Amino acid sequence: MRAYNFAAGPSTLPLEVLQEAQRDLLDFQGTGMSVTEISHRNKKFEAIVEEGEALLRELLNIPENYAVIFVQGGASQQFAAVPLNLMHGGKADYVVTGNFAKKAFEEGKIYGDAQCVASSEDKVYTYIPDVKNIPFRKGTDYVHICSNNTIFGTRYAEFPETEAPLVADMSSEILSREIDVNKFGVIYAGAQKNLAPAGVTIVIARRDLIQSPLPICPTLLKWKVQDENNSLYNTPPCFPIYIATLVLRRLKALGGVKAMNEIDEYKAGLLYDFIDSSPYYTNRVEKKYRSIMNVPFVTPSKEADEKFVKEAAAAGLVSLKGHRLVGGMRASIYNAMPVEGVKALIGFMKKFEKENA
Ligand SMILES: *Cc1c(COP(=O)(O)O)cnc(C)c1O
Repeated sequence: MRAYNFAAGPSTLPLEVLQEAQRDLLDFQGTGMSVTEISHRNKKFEAIVEEGEALLRELLNIPENYAVIFVQGGASQQFAAVPLNLMHGGKADYVVTGNFAKKAFEEGKIYGDAQCVASSEDKVYTYIPDVKNIPFRKGTDYVHICSNNTIFGTRYAEFPETEAPLVADMSSEILSREIDVNKFGVIYAGAQKNLAPAGVTIVIARRDLIQSPLPICPTLLKWKVQDENNSLYNTPPCFPIYIATLVLRRLKALGGVKAMNEIDEYKAGLLYDFIDSSPYYTNRVEKKYRSIMNVPFVTPSKEADEKFVKEAAAAGLVSLKGHRLVGGMRASIYNAMPVEGVKALIGFMKKFEKENA
């Protein structure tokens, strides 16, 4: 039996996608080989990369003047790639709303004058600073934000209007809500939260911004080079790209990002409504900024939290332990988590409360 997997990443994938990959595994499109065994220059594989890019463009409404590339190294590698491609004037602003946002900021400092212009660390990252009142500096190369904070369960309700290009780490929410790509200079997202297995990261970058990476930028991190080579400058992570393409096909068939967002909002609403109605469970995030992807919650005691995680796992609801920085529980309810999974979790929560409150 398949578990309901609430892991923050790598995370659950759609069952139909896994089944299709399983069918293809011994014989991909009549090649007599799996997709992991053929050359990345094979026309059939090139077609997969092209389709993946085209689907991303269609589903996110990405304008022609943006590059869409598949790269390696996870979102963490992009923490360095951002300054290496964009920090021409040596100056960038960062908004620190969580652990990953902070890591991106620390990486930025290696390459120039990176400054934290707003942070929500004072309240353990349970909110997003008011985007209308952030003292952005003049003349910076970019402003970096993390749009959904995986560990703390917050997301931007609205995005800041910035003079400098806005760069967003959307790893844990890409394709879960409609966005206006034109408002961003660069968007990047590691795949293992909402799109594919670990190993591929997507970068969406306005082409005019990426034409002159810093001289010290390694070739592989130059977005321009990846763009010019259709993500095939060197051997790409073939299998994750293939799965991503299957996931994107499914998303399109489901009605695209708008339809997905309605389902995601519905799932998150069920869970938050239950938590808010219960005297036993608490979510500490300011309501306006609650993530629809990652939902942290606690019971009144650490002992009960531990018991909850154990008993939930025994009931087939796995990976609910919260991040060590937050404690308690965290339910990651990405696009691939079925509504039934969230309902099963709520059912378990009710039972646990009855037995332990
Ligand atoms: C998971 C995550 C990362 C880190 O991804 P890696 O693939 O481990 O480098 C960065 N940012 C956000 C928002 C994430 O959720």
